[in-house]
Amino acid sequence: MKEDLMAAAIWAIEREEVSVERALARAPRDLARILEAAWIGQELGFEEGLRLAQARGEELLALVAVADQVRRERVGDLVTYVVNRNINFTNICFVGCSFCAFSRTPKEQDAYALTLDQIAEKAAEAWRRGATEVCIQGGLPPNLDGFFYRDILRAIKARVSEIHIHAFSPMEIVYGVERTGMALRDYLLLLKESGLDTLPGTAAEILDDTVRWRISRQKLTVAQWVEVITTAHKLGIRSTSTMMYGHVETPEHWVRHLLLLRDIQKRTGGFTEFVPLGFVPWNTALYKLGKARPGPTVEEHLKVHALARLLLRGWIENIQVSWVKLGRALSQLCLQAGANDYGGTLMEENISRLAGATAGEYMAPEEFQARIRELGRIPAERTTTYQIRRLFA
Ligand code: SF4
Repeated sequence: MKEDLMAAAIWAIEREEVSVERALARAPRDLARILEAAWIGQELGFEEGLRLAQARGEELLALVAVADQVRRERVGDLVTYVVNRNINFTNICFVGCSFCAFSRTPKEQDAYALTLDQIAEKAAEAWRRGATEVCIQGGLPPNLDGFFYRDILRAIKARVSEIHIHAFSPMEIVYGVERTGMALRDYLLLLKESGLDTLPGTAAEILDDTVRWRISRQKLTVAQWVEVITTAHKLGIRSTSTMMYGHVETPEHWVRHLLLLRDIQKRTGGFTEFVPLGFVPWNTALYKLGKARPGPTVEEHLKVHALARLLLRGWIENIQVSWVKLGRALSQLCLQAGANDYGGTLMEENISRLAGATAGEYMAPEEFQARIRELGRIPAERTTTYQIRRLFA
């Protein structure tokens, strides 16, 4: 099915011009049976997930219609967003992930590293402009003082004690542990005591070691990612969860990844949301060397969001669209394919922009509200942990 026809069909479902029942009736019986089971709340397994991940054309429309219906029944018509600021405190990094266009070696002309004072000032400025969260991640500079992450937290909290600090990927945590020689649990506790509120569940890419080896040989392993996340959750540090798709992986990897996240959530309950992150290929070595496909197709974007809604049902109820990666039109389509959260205002976004994304670095709250209203849904500002701050009914 052509992309514009697909988009028109999805808008028709959203406006209830085409019912979910009708979309199901047009789908093959085996697929409709899985979707009906998902709709009434039965937990789907690997084979069922894989069948959904292989949906095409009319099948995909049925998948999207059921995911949207389940979203409506589980979390209603609110579309949430958070007013936040990204602070990427350095782009110097030795890890060399081939999908990354952000990192620099220390000698490159545009390499930078912010001081503690500069980081704290950016957080204070964000707070003055109405942000409730700062999201802090950076490259991994060689010879970093392992206590620098702790010092960032202290510097920010000394300036703006109320701001929520959402910081440090599991990769940065593993690096901090390595550089300080501390035990993982003790290191996380130190960060928590110094002001860490939640962790970004980034550096997950695809949670499969074979795929990880192909896209980033020095990245932490699946076991290390799971250990950091579950240890953090047990200490009361909640996290997001993510998946980067559209590069070298297959639909089987999506399904296994989602089921692994679901299993972790059953054990810890610590995930606040799931964020599908479409690979932005244009300026990355992985794509330029011909080792990956050129990012996800529209069908793949829709499928991943819908699949997440159905496979994570009852366990992770907030599915976020990444507006920086998707752009305006696609974000809106994915919000009609099972997603219920628009992400953050960001204020300064670097990682996707440098990889070639063109959606911009900042989206004002008013623009979120307007885009959400275009969908016939209700805008709501939330905190990082999904408490509603303001409803714009
Ligand atoms: S993704 Fe992160 S760890 Fe990998 S090269 Fe880029 S900045 Fe470094």
